[in-house]
Amino acid sequence: MNTLRALLIGSMVLLLTACGVNPVTGKKELQFVSEAQELAIGAQNYAPTRQSEGGDFGVVPDLTAYINEVGQKLAAVSDRKLPYEFVVLNNSVPNAWALPGGKIAVNRGLLTELKNETELAAVLGHEIVHAAARHGAKAQERGTLLQAGMAAAQIGAAVGGADANVAGLLIQGAGVGAQMIQMTYGREQELESDLYGMKYMKLAGYDPWGAVTLQETFVRLSEQGARSKNWLDGMFASHPPSMERVARNQQTAAELGRGGDVGAERYVARMKPLNDLKPAYDKYDQAVAAARKKDFATARRLATEASTALPREGRFQELLGEVALSEKQPQQAATHYNRAMELNPAYFGSYLGAGVAQMQLGNRAKAEEWLARSTQLLPTAPAAFYLGQIEREKGNLPKALEYYKAAAGSDSAIGQQAAAEFVKIDLPQNPGNYVAAAGQLDAGGQLIVVVQNRSPVVMGEVQVTPVMVDANGTITSQGSAVRIRGPLAAGERTTAATGVALTQAQLPLVRFRVDGARAAQ
Ligand SMILES: [Zn+2]
Repeated sequence: MNTLRALLIGSMVLLLTACGVNPVTGKKELQFVSEAQELAIGAQNYAPTRQSEGGDFGVVPDLTAYINEVGQKLAAVSDRKLPYEFVVLNNSVPNAWALPGGKIAVNRGLLTELKNETELAAVLGHEIVHAAARHGAKAQERGTLLQAGMAAAQIGAAVGGADANVAGLLIQGAGVGAQMIQMTYGREQELESDLYGMKYMKLAGYDPWGAVTLQETFVRLSEQGARSKNWLDGMFASHPPSMERVARNQQTAAELGRGGDVGAERYVARMKPLNDLKPAYDKYDQAVAAARKKDFATARRLATEASTALPREGRFQELLGEVALSEKQPQQAATHYNRAMELNPAYFGSYLGAGVAQMQLGNRAKAEEWLARSTQLLPTAPAAFYLGQIEREKGNLPKALEYYKAAAGSDSAIGQQAAAEFVKIDLPQNPGNYVAAAGQLDAGGQLIVVVQNRSPVVMGEVQVTPVMVDANGTITSQGSAVRIRGPLAAGERTTAATGVALTQAQLPLVRFRVDGARAAQ
């Protein structure tokens, strides 16, 4: 089938599904993403997005059960039946998000900021509406999130802003699904989510006033700029607070009728185990900040203190491993990562660090096992890069190229390194992809070839052959091969004589065949 026909049939399918009624507002709207697609997007991206946002928070295991309990009460009275799920993530940034299809997450960093259960209900009700009213699906229909569905399938899409000097493994806030959860909802969608979320609160027996006090807190925090970096990265990035929302919520609460369950004591009691642990997580956050500034001594001291206060948190061991890797102590790193894997066996970061440590210790078999395990949980550029190295050493070049290509898709130092490794392997096979060559005449009518290295690696040698073509592009004659010795840096141009004499009229019929190129040693 030709491409045009495929496109036409594709768009007919879209047109057939393009008319719908919004399940929450009841308004007619164009719907290009079907419900089946919505559910698939949510189901495919929920696990990797949770991984890239810190992983499930297991240290206080009944916390997720509690959040689910409150969330399911609201879901039961919502306008749309979806396979709703609620989970608490091990992340200090105050944030909550919803994927299409009703897959919702709350960071522990937000839970410690709420005062009572009805404020939690306000957060969850609001997120339920984002999912139920297809706000994420609409963003995909607008094309603003076209990449999001593909990110999950692409190894290496998961590392954003990785700093190669801090071994590059501390991954936060970027990755699979990041586009979906970091997009900014529009003003209308925020108001809509507040309004219907409050209706669900009321129907589930909660005091809708919780949405007012929650929004007031958000406005105050955003104005103060207090702890603002975290807030601006989290909740406020995707859900901008405003006095308009406070006023609207006050009005909605008055219309719905104030009163209902507030759940202050219950909330405080359920959050006590988490709040007791907060000082340890604060120390960990400070340790991460120190590690990013390459103050490894401070990072190690704070992470050790955090770990002493809360020995069962694998993330603290993972950070100690990261610090050891950064200080080129892979044996010590491996010890920390082994503990991290025991404590946190469902989190990709433990395995990724363990794999890199084993790689540096020269234990390829163990490295491969841990890196593959981390990739199953969350594909990352470092894992793809090192798996590429392992395959290259085995002589499995096609597989190595696959891994390097995947890692090269990440905008990071390790992504650039992977791109260079890819080119080194591919260059001898496809030199024409990396070398540009064109002809010009010197004053004496001699043909000169201008060669440019379009690859990211230094070339040691390039070989081209001048050919003459007719009007149809068919080769009519060829000259002798021209060998150009490097080093030729990335992007660098050079010229060489070809030994061919031509007239100006013949010059447009000259082409250069790139016969070979190799990277400098
Ligand atoms: Zn929102």
